[in-house]
Amino acid sequence: MKAVCLSVRSIKKNYENAPLLRDMSFDLHQNETLCLLGPSGSGKSTLLRIIAGLEQADAGQILWQDQDITSLPVEKRNFGLMFQDYALFPHMNVAENIAFGPRMQGWKKQDIAARVDQTLHIVHMEGFATRQVGDLSGGEKQRVALARTIAAKPALLMLDEPLGALDKALRDQLGQELREILKELQLPTIYVTHDQEEAFTVGDSVAVLNFGYILQKGNPEEIYSKPASAWLSGFLGFTNHVEGKITSTDPLKVSTHLGDFELGSHDDRKPKPGEAVTLVLRPESVQPENGAGSSNSITGVIKDSQFRGDGYRLSLLLEDGEIFHFRDLQRRTIGQHIKLKIDPAAILWYGGDERTNYDHQKG
Ligand code: ADP
Repeated sequence: MKAVCLSVRSIKKNYENAPLLRDMSFDLHQNETLCLLGPSGSGKSTLLRIIAGLEQADAGQILWQDQDITSLPVEKRNFGLMFQDYALFPHMNVAENIAFGPRMQGWKKQDIAARVDQTLHIVHMEGFATRQVGDLSGGEKQRVALARTIAAKPALLMLDEPLGALDKALRDQLGQELREILKELQLPTIYVTHDQEEAFTVGDSVAVLNFGYILQKGNPEEIYSKPASAWLSGFLGFTNHVEGKITSTDPLKVSTHLGDFELGSHDDRKPKPGEAVTLVLRPESVQPENGAGSSNSITGVIKDSQFRGDGYRLSLLLEDGEIFHFRDLQRRTIGQHIKLKIDPAAILWYGGDERTNYDHQKG
């Protein structure tokens, strides 16, 4: 593991007596791109502004290379910050926009010119130097804004919803491009987004925040395969949740109003008989249950079977009126009753604090 360059320690921030950041801590490593992922209003921008020095925390510390910078003014931090609206200067051309930071820092003329060329090359915008900012497309503006942010060689790069103003197709394309550019830059980067797909595309690691806490930090695979709580699994799009009780621990069995489920391994967690748990049935490929299998199956009426390129998205109306979604290999007839097998390996389970929102558990 590379050395830690930034440490965020127990940051707290209240607005109008309501806690927004209750206790936020994480480390950022050299050259790591960390995506701060959370729903709108969860405090991502506030945390970023505190790290940048644009806002003061009520408590906690920010360390940069082991130095306490909690009270250091923004201009002394040498961090590059880019917002969603880009804030490019409309009366300047592309090169002048990019040159702005180095000029303010008193760089020599020829160094500025060389740096403008270099950053235009990094963001794949060679040949755009004399273009007027107003004539650029949304994606081009976004790349010029990135070039301007990195021009003065910041030690840390911070991007706040940098693709937020763009349409979905462009976001997908630029997300991939940004990932490659950030890799080449070799700069520690904090990237704020509310979009899971974008976070998983761009980030070496992802920190999910909500309710005032960093709920989980890990690489995208870890978070996707083992979301740390029922809330987090729902936030990642795994919305097939069933409440139940543990009836046996070896093998692990759970009884629910939709039937009984036998689960795969329970790693090092210690389930207790009678414990209330939330099951999350991952929307992975399902097969109809043809036999009389009594456990690990659910029945319902097909509400929708939607083509999705690599298969179908099946919407199943359960007897209790809920709708569950699964991936499916074939188109099904709407209105048909069906019984589906659920693979034990596709079931996540959460007990204790992991079941409910942290909001009521801590703080
Ligand atoms: P996110 O970036 O996750 O959408 P923000 O950090 O922008 O979240 O803000 C979260 C909430 O904090 C806002 O919805 C608002 O209620 C509150 N907030 C942020 N800044 C201020 C402020 N300067 N004064 C009062 N409340 C604020």
